[in-house]
Formats: sequence, structure tokens, C-alpha cells
Amino acid sequence: MKCVDELSDRKIISGIVSKIKAIKLSGKVKIMEVCGTHTMSIFKNGIKSLLPDSIELISGPGCPVCVTPDIYIDKALALAKKENVIITTFADLLRVPGSSGTLQEMRVNRKNITTVYSPLEAVKIAYNNPGQEVIFLAIGFETTIPAIALSIIKANQLGLNNFSILQSLKIMPPVLQELVLDKDLDVDGFILPGHVSTISGLQPFEFLARDYHVPGVVAGFEPGDIILSIYTLCKMLKDNDIRVKNLYPRLVRLEGNKKAQELIKEIFTPVDSYWRGLGTITGSGLKLRKVYHRYSAEKKFQFGDTQYRPGKGCICGEILKGKQKPTDCRLFGIKCTPMKPEGPCMVSREGTCAAYYRYRGKV
Ligand code: SF4
Repeated sequence: MKCVDELSDRKIISGIVSKIKAIKLSGKVKIMEVCGTHTMSIFKNGIKSLLPDSIELISGPGCPVCVTPDIYIDKALALAKKENVIITTFADLLRVPGSSGTLQEMRVNRKNITTVYSPLEAVKIAYNNPGQEVIFLAIGFETTIPAIALSIIKANQLGLNNFSILQSLKIMPPVLQELVLDKDLDVDGFILPGHVSTISGLQPFEFLARDYHVPGVVAGFEPGDIILSIYTLCKMLKDNDIRVKNLYPRLVRLEGNKKAQELIKEIFTPVDSYWRGLGTITGSGLKLRKVYHRYSAEKKFQFGDTQYRPGKGCICGEILKGKQKPTDCRLFGIKCTPMKPEGPCMVSREGTCAAYYRYRGKV
């Protein structure tokens, strides 16, 4: 196992880059990363500029804010307008536009939208405000879901009947299957999400190699981690030794975090879920088990029209599928910037548009 210092060492990295360049691949190789933190590290460290032209890195749907559809924000806005409701959320979501504005804009006139660092903080707010319904905006992947499950357990232990979650929880393996089946996309290999894998382990990703003959590597987030993962994918492709490998053993175990997995299973059950840009993907979401329906904001409140409406001019959907680049969007850097985002890929600091904008000189 390499120590973290080595993984940022220029000499070591350029040694691995030379090895990548020495691999004679037949044709162009398309590698997709499906974790927003990888996207940021790739841009921040100018990794694309180190690679030969034959290797193309594309960003997939790895940022939870970016894949959350407008309609979810519309529901949150509708809930925030209700009497005796406190909306609690991670800060990222505040600036994501729904069809009629953002939570941030609404916050100017209403004091009932507050940011939290964890779902348990939202439970505490509910405990301290018995006359108010406290709703946590529950978005995220496998990494965040155990903490949300814990908040349900805590609310249950405290006997709270004024805490609920608005759900848009997503899991990674079904979306990878969707991407691998997309013939237009034609991905040759995946840099698999390091954070998600700490919870899920490797097994849920093994189908990539077994069923579709596409390699994947679980990688950490240092520049050396990413360069090494690219080298490993190229080598596997060259040698036709297609597997799913763990290159992040300092945090990821083959079986993942069993305790967290059990917690997730106890509270949630799989459901089809809508991903911005990708549509509805079978079994790609989680919802509360029936026994916990009293903590579902969707069950407690009625919503009107919940049809998905894409934002005007924003091509986040195509970007999340790796089919277009932020620079293909006519709003990029003109009407859409991190200060005034038009779409979620620019809002989240892990979004592809935000990464392109922030590290423009390195792309
Ligand atoms: Fe959407 Fe802005 Fe990205 Fe264009 S630049 S795709 S409007 S987030």
C-alpha cells in the first residue's frame, strides 16, 4: 500500500504517467469517473493534461446534488411555504434551482429554512421544536444514507412525531448498469467511487467485469490514486484481464461496512428512482420501509403536479451521461457561473460544470 505522501509525489506520478504512455492500446480509451470528489481532484490536479490523447476522461453522475431533479426542489419549496414547517438541508442544495426559484431565494423572506451538517442535527431541531414539523431534505448516495438511517432510528427512539424526510436517495450500481448498456456512450472502464465503496464494498460492482466485460477500479482521491487507477484500467484492457479491483485498501474493504449496510436495510427498501438526465432507473433508489412511513414527508403532505420539467437551456442531463461537456452549454460561464448557477452541475462544488469553471486553465 502506498502512503498518502507518495500519492502526491510528482516523481512517482510522472513515473506512472510514463508507464501509461508505454501501453500500446488499440484505439481510443474512454474512462468514466462516477464520483464528484474524483471529478474535482482530476480538474484540480490537471490530470487530463498529463494523459496521452488516446485516453479520454469523462465525468459521470457522481454528484448527488446534480442528479436530484428539479421536481424535488419544487417539492421542498412547496413544503417550505407551509405553516409550522422547518426545512433542514445540507448547504449544497440551497442554490439548486427548481422551476420557481431556489431555497436560498426563499430564505430571504422566510426564516424556516436552515442548514445542518448532519441529519441528526435535524432530529435535534425537531426535539427542541415540538410544535413544528421538521423536514430533512434527504438526498445522497450510499455514503450519506447510513447517517439518514440513523436519524430515523433516533427520531423513533425519542418518539418524535414531528420529524420527517423528503426522500431522493440513490444507489450507484443500477446507474452504472444503465451507463454500461448505453451503446452511444461506450465506456471502456470505470474509476469507481471511493466514498461509496467504503460502505458498499466491491461486490456490488463486480457485475461490470463479470456480465459486461468492462473493468473498474475503486480509487482514492490523491492525484497518484487517480493516475494509478488509469494505469490499472489501461493495463487490464491491454492484457484482456478484465476485473473489478480495489486500489483504495487504506479505506475500502472487499465486503464494505457491514454495519452500515445492515442499518440501510433495516430502514430502507429499494425503489425505482428518477435521475436528472438519465430518467427513471429501476431499483436505483431507496425509500423508507412501510413500518417507518410516519417519517416520510411524502406521506405526511400532499403535493400537486409532480411532473419533471427540464430547466431551460441547461444540458446537465447530457453532461451527467458523459455525452456533452460543460463547454458545449451555451450558458456556461456567461449566464451560468458558480455565483449565479442555472443548473445543479454548477451549484455543487462537486459538479462537472463547477469543476470546469473553477479549473478552466487546466482543462
Ligand atoms: Fe446547466 Fe450551467 Fe452546466 Fe449549462 S453550464 S449545463 S446551464 S449547470
